[in-house]
Amino acid sequence: MNKPRVSIIGSGISGLIAASTAAQNGCEVDVFEKNAEPGGRIRAMHYHGFTFDMGPSWYWMPDIIEDHFKKFGHTTSDFYELVQLDPSYSVFWKDEPPLRVPADLTGMYDWMEAKEPGSSRKLERFLDQARMKYEVGMWDLAQKPMQKPIDYMDFSLVGKAFRMDLFKSMHRHITQYFKDPHIISLLSFPVLFLGGTARQIPALYSLMNYADLKLGTWYPMGGMVKLTEAWHQIATELGVRFHFDEEIREIHVNDDRVKALKTSKKYFPTEALIATGDYHHVEQELLPSYYRHYSESYWQKRTMSPSSLLFYIGVNTKVPGLTHHNLFFDEDLDRHSYSIYTEPEWPRKPLFYVCCPSKTDDSVAPDGFENLFVLIPIAPDLDETPEIHEYYFDLIMQRMEKRLNFNIRPHVLFKKSFGVQDFKRAYNSFKGNAYGLANTLNQTAGLKPAMCPKNIDNMVYAGQLTVPGPGIPPSLISGRMAADLLTKQIA
Ligand SMILES: Cc1cc2nc3c(=O)[nH]c(=O)nc-3n(C[C@H](O)[C@H](O)[C@H](O)COP(=O)(O)OP(=O)(O)OC[C@H]3O[C@@H](n4cnc5c(N)ncnc54)[C@H](O)[C@@H]3O)c2cc1C
Repeated sequence: MNKPRVSIIGSGISGLIAASTAAQNGCEVDVFEKNAEPGGRIRAMHYHGFTFDMGPSWYWMPDIIEDHFKKFGHTTSDFYELVQLDPSYSVFWKDEPPLRVPADLTGMYDWMEAKEPGSSRKLERFLDQARMKYEVGMWDLAQKPMQKPIDYMDFSLVGKAFRMDLFKSMHRHITQYFKDPHIISLLSFPVLFLGGTARQIPALYSLMNYADLKLGTWYPMGGMVKLTEAWHQIATELGVRFHFDEEIREIHVNDDRVKALKTSKKYFPTEALIATGDYHHVEQELLPSYYRHYSESYWQKRTMSPSSLLFYIGVNTKVPGLTHHNLFFDEDLDRHSYSIYTEPEWPRKPLFYVCCPSKTDDSVAPDGFENLFVLIPIAPDLDETPEIHEYYFDLIMQRMEKRLNFNIRPHVLFKKSFGVQDFKRAYNSFKGNAYGLANTLNQTAGLKPAMCPKNIDNMVYAGQLTVPGPGIPPSLISGRMAADLLTKQIA
């Protein structure tokens, strides 16, 4: 019997796992990728002995990632060495020495007790509840495609929604336990990964605190790009064919079925499609209008995750005072958030994040040198110029140099910025978003753009703009669910 022929748009992490799963389910799979290499946001850039991860740098929820390797008879150690970081990360405050968050939480209790007596015991209670949310949220709810009423019933009607704190904000939840502003900032930080602030994101996502403080922060030696290399290898070994430098320009639908793709190089007949490129781009630009599930005005009303201004910087000396992950929380988060979500404009005093993987991994920078990645969250779709990028480079350098008491700029060998237009050009990203839709209450679970489009019987969406959401573990889950859904549809 002939194998069903499935095509996939995009070779980001969701596309790679969708391809591997579809191949494992017995399909013949072709992946089309507009860029020259796989990985999407998880790619690397090389420069004279430096290897810069271009997107993600935090390896959280190692159990979810490991589980996906297990489904293919592998373990992460078949592909890379995973090390736990200690300290997990550093937080630079305005008014006091940096906090080094230890891998073993108990090491933080003295700091907490000095700030707020009794807070370490409260943290244990807070994290006990967060564990329950993590187990239900990541191992149960996130693994449902939210396509059928039964997927919601389990969640909303049985009272779980209240137990999981779906209708309370993270900010409210945290401040019900703690009063000290530093502790509140520390516990609010992980929701920034979800594209919103603690005032916008439901308290369901205190599951991220469990991931942070109990499961720990990990790093694959060689860089995050090791994930892409691993999944590209798994897919290739399962017979998946990759077509790089080949952009999909149109999806041809007939009688409610995808029949073919028009690529930048050819016309390609197909029996089914998984679309993992940016959801807005696929449906608004590639599908005929009749088959679009949502209108342009629907998309304009979505709260997108921030875009980012990124800098990749090679430095010809070691930079003292930095650890692998560094959060510069030395300005006001609410003011910065206002410039992202309320009155979009370039932030005057941005918070920013610096990754220095060469503190852990000698392979990402020449001997004695440092590899820096800087991320400033900004509003999507901001106008930008090279001068604006340069202005922010100087601004963050000044702040870092002051906090670290060390001049970095005379040692910079290489620097490259990546902003809103780069996100659009590189990934067809809607408004230049960095990590999809914000996980606000009305954009959570079944309220996200649906995996199955209306009136098309052989197409499924996957990736960070549909369920379960942004981040590497959710994108893995999304790719696997999409392939399983599709192979059932076409069986
Ligand atoms: C700066 C940054 C930092 C991040 N930090 C973290 C982190 O620390 N930890 C974490 O877990 N997550 C992080 N994330 C989020 C995480 O990287 C993403 O959620 C995840 O990689 C998304 O994978 P994806 O497959 O959905 O999308 P993508 O990686 O965007 O893949 C989609 C692919 O589709 C391709 N494509 C688009 N249109 C077409 C077309 N018409 N034809 C052919 N190909 C097309 C694109 O080129 C791309 O390769 C970060 C993201 C960014 C940008």
